[in-house]
Amino acid sequence: MSHHPSRRDFLQKTAADRAASLILPRSLFAQTPAPTFHFIHIDTLTSWPISDPVSWPLANAHEPILARAAEGLAKLTPNDADRILRLVVRRCRLNLIELHADQVVIHHWGTKRADLRPFFKVHRLARKNIEVTLRDRKKEAVTIQHGDDFLFGVPIASDFPLDLFRTKWANRFQNEPDDLEAAPNTRSGFAWNGVEDDRIPWIALKSAWRRSAPGVCLNCSGEPFWTNFGLRQTGMFNRSPCFEYICGECCRLFRDESVKDVRGWIVENLDEGVRPSDEIIWGRRVKWQ
Ligand SMILES: [Zn+2]
Repeated sequence: MSHHPSRRDFLQKTAADRAASLILPRSLFAQTPAPTFHFIHIDTLTSWPISDPVSWPLANAHEPILARAAEGLAKLTPNDADRILRLVVRRCRLNLIELHADQVVIHHWGTKRADLRPFFKVHRLARKNIEVTLRDRKKEAVTIQHGDDFLFGVPIASDFPLDLFRTKWANRFQNEPDDLEAAPNTRSGFAWNGVEDDRIPWIALKSAWRRSAPGVCLNCSGEPFWTNFGLRQTGMFNRSPCFEYICGECCRLFRDESVKDVRGWIVENLDEGVRPSDEIIWGRRVKWQ
């Protein structure tokens, strides 16, 4: 009859492990679960899993992706783990990504760092509770960030009236008594009769919300909606399109740089009765239509 491990065996083994952990440096212990590794190319953002960040470059030194490190790799052995890693991230435009349970470590060379947002999205790492260690192997400097720093867009300002916008957006197919009032935080470069300069009245935002959506959220399955449209003064003589939208799910703000013809956009996306009456030029109202 085969020997089944008893509870006693188990306890003895656990006690032995515990004793050992007091003696041996932590780094010698296999981590549970073991980390997984990926390389990511900083130009194409192509990434692929590798079993071992030391043996993989040595075994694949002939591959085109490692061409710029091939000569150096030929002189190195598995005992040169750190030199191999530094060589590959320095020469091959690659970053190494180590995935641990609640931590991600990125090895990069100076400013040669990949846009990690798509990778973080696919691997569901763009979360606050994930610690991200950026290891610059050029300066051997470490920066700590969190997973949600790698969401697309920027955080919605803490004083932005998100709940108010959410409620108004949810009611976009209804008329409400305060729809003629200005929506806070808007700056359009246009003016509406009876509304303070620059501000967009809810009635116009609702029309835009009904007629156009800024597209899908890059982070999540939330439904983004416009929080601003128009032209913003960007210098003494210049005004630039300013189209912003938010996702109420992941709470990020995005800018849409694709609209060039702002007046055309307004005609297309605002019902006739709710288009601006004036444009603000040099701080004064100028009849628009
Ligand atoms: Zn989102």
